Amino acid sequence: MVILISCCDPRIIPEEFGLFKREEYVVVRNAGGRAEPAIRDICVLSTMTEITDVVVIHHSDCGMTHLTNDAIRSSMKSRGLGDEKLDTFEFGEILKFLVVEELQGPAIQT
Ligand SMILES: [Zn+2]
Repeated sequence: MVILISCCDPRIIPEEFGLFKREEYVVVRNAGGRAEPAIRDICVLSTMTEITDVVVIHHSDCGMTHLTNDAIRSSMKSRGLGDEKLDTFEFGEILKFLVVEELQGPAIQT
């Protein structure tokens, strides 16, 4: 089974890329298509089936390249969401130097 990690941006639909047959893959989506938060799902899936490959799909103009952890925390606080643990939570901001490295590979244009 192939794991496709993708951003939850609705403009990106990995199922439409035709990379694999439908029964050959599972899509794990999160904000920014980050691998770290997907690890939990991959571990669970690996107990049920053999994972042969993990493919990370990023896209151009991802909203997570415009947000920082602090901006997300500030937005949540302004809406009365979160508690004292909010300041310790990482939302997976994409730092500029990471974006440059990631864009060296083929990008899917949105
Ligand atoms: Zn995105």
